[in-house]
Amino acid sequence: MSTASAWPADGGDWDVIVVGAGFTGLAAAHELGRAGLRCLVLEADDRVGGLAGTFPVGGRQLERFYHHWFASDTDIFRLCAELGCGHLVERHAGRTGFYHAGGIHRLSTPLDVARFAPLPLADRLRLGRSVLRAGRVRHWRELEALTAEEWLVGLGGRRVYDRVWRPLLEGKFGEYAPEVGATWMWTKLHLRGGSRSRAGHEVLYYLRGGCGALLAAWLPELARLGVRIRTSCPVTDVLAGPHGVTGVRAGGTRYTARRVLVTTAPGPAAALLADADHPAVPGLRRQLTAIPYLANICLVLENDRPLSDTYWLNVTDPGFPYVGVIEHTNLDPAWHYGGRHVVYLSTYLPVDAGLYRMPDDQVYRYSLLHLRRMFPAFREEWVRGCHVWRAEHAQPVITRYYSRTVPATESPLPGLYLAGMAQVFPEDRGTNYALRGGQRAGRLIADRIRAAARPAHPAPLTTGAAT
Ligand SMILES: Cc1cc2nc3c(=O)[nH]c(=O)nc-3n(C[C@H](O)[C@H](O)[C@H](O)COP(=O)(O)OP(=O)(O)OC[C@H]3O[C@@H](n4cnc5c(N)ncnc54)[C@H](O)[C@@H]3O)c2cc1C
Repeated sequence: MSTASAWPADGGDWDVIVVGAGFTGLAAAHELGRAGLRCLVLEADDRVGGLAGTFPVGGRQLERFYHHWFASDTDIFRLCAELGCGHLVERHAGRTGFYHAGGIHRLSTPLDVARFAPLPLADRLRLGRSVLRAGRVRHWRELEALTAEEWLVGLGGRRVYDRVWRPLLEGKFGEYAPEVGATWMWTKLHLRGGSRSRAGHEVLYYLRGGCGALLAAWLPELARLGVRIRTSCPVTDVLAGPHGVTGVRAGGTRYTARRVLVTTAPGPAAALLADADHPAVPGLRRQLTAIPYLANICLVLENDRPLSDTYWLNVTDPGFPYVGVIEHTNLDPAWHYGGRHVVYLSTYLPVDAGLYRMPDDQVYRYSLLHLRRMFPAFREEWVRGCHVWRAEHAQPVITRYYSRTVPATESPLPGLYLAGMAQVFPEDRGTNYALRGGQRAGRLIADRIRAAARPAHPAPLTTGAAT
């Protein structure tokens, strides 16, 4: 293992190169730094944080894509504590609702389900019963053979599926909705169900200052451990020879390392291997490109007043172009953002969808028309700021038998490691699982380096006194 004083110049010989400075990449680099390894992180974007990266609003940093945590996100709470910001993690009772057939309905507690007018009484009972029955499934493996549709129709009947579950699945996965595995849905119900107050309200957590505050505490710690991070540095190739990985190329520079961890989505990871010269590569690329992904677009409005008192509004109205309206400042108060009331309009879609391709000003105009339909009192004069954020790789599609598809951390190409959102299973993506996956990958690589450094044939033990 090397010491910080022996750190190579940029292109020099690194122990490990990490591609991507999202939570997975940073967590892996943290472990590698802790192990005393020379680690370089290369990030394509102009900032770290990946999907949890931030931008300034009213003097605070805000996530480009809405973020909150659940009670089960214990790894991230541990990191916050370790970095000295554990006391800033705040607990909130998030008000959630459904926008359905032109009206907003609460659907958080059993009482809300009993009052959910769009469903006939018998179906409300079926819905309540199906959520209870879903909670009795102890292990995701019991559901691996089923699609979410098959499972949910079995639990609550076709009409409940068509009115409640189908619009949610289609909103999130579009044309892939019929392929989504029951395990994905079970995990969502299981984790969210476990994050509730005694009254049945969803309990959510948010760090005061958001992921921006976490990153602000994390980066100095990584620097202290000797981790180097280069932003605006897209990796174009993972380089490999007959014995495995030899480094990466980024911005025309060759960076040398015998171990590379790629934390991008699997499609872009496969593209990095296009010229890698090793017999394991074609099979690996086929495996990586087989996982479908959806993009996300978030329109973020900074308004001078609130739209509603709801934090999270699921939209099941097929005429509305977004699947969620998330009024962030109903979770974290507007005075934290200089009095700006922050609303995200979010949807998942393929990259060739019209909305994803629209110029930002058109996205704004088009979306405001729809928002006005949902909140008739809303006026454009309320809007003080507007931002459009797009992520090409926002959500992997978790199909049946996903455990057989998920790529291993240690790839068949020697020296290449993979960790990222598509490998979060059975849980669904999230910063907590990015952290956990990155930490595991970092520890695995450190173990492999330690094992390779050990002499293959230790000297025989002598028993007698030396003469
Ligand atoms: C709309 C939305 C809402 C979400 N809400 C929540 C939430 O409420 N709570 C929660 O915990 N999680 C949430 N998530 C999920 C969470 O953001 C992700 O699970 C987590 O950030 C993934 O981290 P990652 O490092 O695995 O991937 P990413 O964040 O995608 O990081 C990968 C990094 O690799 C970089 N990269 C890609 N190609 C290259 C290249 N060639 N060279 C160098 N760098 C490259 C990318 O720029 C990126 O920074 C949300 C995600 C989205 C999209």
